[in-house]
Amino acid sequence: NGAPRVVLSARGLRRDFGGFTAVKDVDLDVHHARVHALIGPNGAGKTTVFNLLTKFLQPTHGTITLLGEDITNMAPDKVARMGLVRSFQISAVFPHLTVLDNVRVALQRPNGLAIQFWKPLSALDALNARADQLIRSVGLEKERNAVAADLSYGRKRVLEIATTLALDPKVLLLDEPMAGMGHEDVGMVAEIIREVARERAVLMVEHNLSVVATLCHHVTVLQRGEILAEGDYATVSEDPRVRTAYMGT
Ligand code: ADP
Repeated sequence: NGAPRVVLSARGLRRDFGGFTAVKDVDLDVHHARVHALIGPNGAGKTTVFNLLTKFLQPTHGTITLLGEDITNMAPDKVARMGLVRSFQISAVFPHLTVLDNVRVALQRPNGLAIQFWKPLSALDALNARADQLIRSVGLEKERNAVAADLSYGRKRVLEIATTLALDPKVLLLDEPMAGMGHEDVGMVAEIIREVARERAVLMVEHNLSVVATLCHHVTVLQRGEILAEGDYATVSEDPRVRTAYMGT
C-alpha cells in the first residue's frame, strides 16, 4: 500500500568516453509493479544508461542502488543474480530447440530459478512444472512443443522474454521489445509486459510512442545524455521542450 516501492535507483549518473559525455547527471527511480519507459532520439544515451545500470559499463560518477543495496562497484553477473536482468535485442533463443526446451535450459542456467528447486528426487518434476508455468505466463502454451526457429518473429521475442523470466528478475530491462513487429504482435507483447510487470519492475527503451502512452506508467526523456523531462506520458508529451526536441512539433 502507499507509494510503489523503488527497486532500482541511480543518482548523478555520468559516463564519459574520452572527452565526450554520453550520460550526465541522470537520476532515475524505477518502481516495483510499474512499467517505466526510457525514450529519446538516437544518441540520447539510452543504451549507455542500460549498460551502466547492468554494470556492463562503469559510471564515471554517480551511484546505483538495487533493492536497497549499492551496486555501483558490483560485477554484472552479481547484479544479474540479485535480480536486475536485461533481455537483449539479439535473440538468446536456441533455434533448434523447442519452446519447452529453451525454457528448461534457461531455468538451469547458474542463476536460473531451477537451482532453488534442486532436490534430487523432485528436480525434474519441479523443473517441468516451473517451465510450464513460465510458458503459460507468456501465452506460449500452444507452441510449447514447436521448434523455436518455426515461431513467428513476435513469438520468438516472447520466448526470449520467457527465458529472461526464468532468471526470476526483480527488475527487467527491455531494449526495444517490440522492434520490427507488426501491429498485432506489438499488442500481444504489450499485454505480456503488462502482465510481467504485476510482480516486478520493468524499464524499457521504446520508440513507439503509442506503446509508451498505453503501457508505461512513467516516462523519462533523455536528450544528449541528460534528462529533458519525466513524468507520466500525458505530462511529458505536453512538455514544449519534449515536443520540440523529440517529437518534432
Ligand atoms: P542511444 O541508445 O540513446 O541511441 P547511446 O547510449 O548508444 O544512445 O549513445 C549515446 C552517445 O554516446 C552517442 O553519441 C554515442 O556515439 C556515444 N557512445 C556510446 N558508446 C560509446 C563508446 N563506447 N565510445 C564512445 N562513444 C560512445
